[in-house]
Amino acid sequence: MASFDIFFLSLRDPSKAGRLRFVQTLGHISDKTNDEIEDILGTGRGLLFERLSRERANAVVKALGNAGARLEIRPNQAPPAQDDVVATRECPRCGFIERADAEECSQCGLVFAKWEREQIRVMQREKRLEEAMAKALQVRQKWTERATEYVAKHPLSGEIPAPLQAKLSPQETVFMLVESEEGPLVLTSRRCLCRRGGFTFSVPWELMAGIDFGGGLLKKRGDFSRMQMNFHGPVPIGGGETAQKLMWQVGDLDATDRDTIMSWAYARKFPCGACGETELHFQFDGKKVHGRCMHCATDHEIDLEEALAIPILAD
Ligand SMILES: [Zn+2]
Ligand SMILES: [Zn+2]
Repeated sequence: MASFDIFFLSLRDPSKAGRLRFVQTLGHISDKTNDEIEDILGTGRGLLFERLSRERANAVVKALGNAGARLEIRPNQAPPAQDDVVATRECPRCGFIERADAEECSQCGLVFAKWEREQIRVMQREKRLEEAMAKALQVRQKWTERATEYVAKHPLSGEIPAPLQAKLSPQETVFMLVESEEGPLVLTSRRCLCRRGGFTFSVPWELMAGIDFGGGLLKKRGDFSRMQMNFHGPVPIGGGETAQKLMWQVGDLDATDRDTIMSWAYARKFPCGACGETELHFQFDGKKVHGRCMHCATDHEIDLEEALAIPILAD
C-alpha cells in the first residue's frame, strides 16, 4: 500500500486572520507546535506530513483546505508510517475536521454523543414509521377491495361535488355519496370527506365511534332524516372549530346504504405504532389531532387526510 506526502504551497488568504485560521487548524489536527507552524509559513513551502495513509491524507487535505491552504499531494511508494497527525473525525453537521477524542465540534458546537443518540432516535422512529405504514397499507388494501365491491353493486348516485373531488387521493376509492342539508358527504375507502358550513374536512373511519340514524329523536322533514356521527375524539370541522359529534339531515338512504355506513363506522381503529394496541386517546392541540396510546403512552400525530396515525417518539 502506497502512502502520501503533503506539501504546503501557500495560503489563499495571507492576511493575519487567514494565517491564524491555518495555524489553529494545523495545531488542532497534529502535534505540531505553533513555532513549527510559523516556521512553515515563514519559509512559504514545505513538507507538512510524510507517508500518510490514504484516510489520514484525506482528512488532512480536507481540514487544511477548509482553513484556506493550497496543498500538493504526492504519492510515496513507501508504506504509511507513524505520523504526528492525530486521529480525526468529520463533524456531521458542518464538515469541520475535529480530533477524534473531542466531545464537541469546535466550529459549530455540535455535541457528538448527543448527535449520535439523536441519530439512533431518528432511525428508530423511521423504522417504527415504516412498520406502521406497512401495516396500515395492508389494512387499507382490504378496505379498498371492500369499497370497490360495494360500488360495483351499488353505483354512485351522482357526480362527486367538485370541491370534494379536488381533495381525493387517486389511491382511495369512493363508494357512496350522501346528500345532506348541511352539505355533501363523500364516503371513501379511507374516510368521510365532508363539506359543511363552507368548510371541507376529513374524518378517517378510525376516528368514528359510530353513525346512527333516526332513533328516538327522528324528525322527518320531507325526504330528509337525521344521521348522527360520533367521534372518538375532537375532530376539526373548519373555522377553528372541533366537534365530538355531528348531526346531519341526510337525503333518503336505503336500508343497505344505512347498514353499510354503520358497519364502516364501527369497524376500524388506529393501532398504536409502538405496541399495536388499539386504544388511542385523541386530543386536539389547536393545529393537529394527536392520539396517545393508553397502553404504552406513545403519542401519535393523526394525519386526517391520509387517515394515518404516525407515532412520535418521546425525547
Ligand atoms: Zn461542526
Ligand atoms: Zn402503545
